[in-house]
Order: sequence, then structure tokens, then C-alpha cells
Amino acid sequence: MDQETHPPEEPTAGHVVCARCGTAAEGDTAPLTWLSSVEDGRRLHFCDACARLHIRAVESRLDSVWW
Ligand SMILES: [Zn+2]
Repeated sequence: MDQETHPPEEPTAGHVVCARCGTAAEGDTAPLTWLSSVEDGRRLHFCDACARLHIRAVESRLDSVWW
């Protein structure tokens, strides 16, 4: 399969960069340990360290919403 298509929102071709700390992934796709989320129609990637912080922030934010 030839997969040359990139989403138009992806500004960096061939590089996945953490949206929080700017760490670049080794390959051209996000590692399995990275978190990818879509915010405002743009796909953001977070490295494993930032993913934990991000998830914690999301959870605490959900908490305040739920209560
Ligand atoms: Zn990061």
C-alpha cells in the first residue's frame, strides 16, 4: 500500500512533535506511548511524559465539570 497522503492540518511533514514540550519523535509517526488528541480540528501529539500531565489535567478538569 502506498500511503503518501497527509492530512492538510498537519504542518510538519514526516515529523511528530510534542505539542507541549516540543520533543520530536524518532520516526514519522507518534510512538505508541504518545498521546494524540484532536483539539480545534488540529491533531496534537504529546510525548509519554507530557501525556501523563495532560491526562491528569484533563481528569481534574473533568472532575470539576462533573461535580
Ligand atoms: Zn512532551
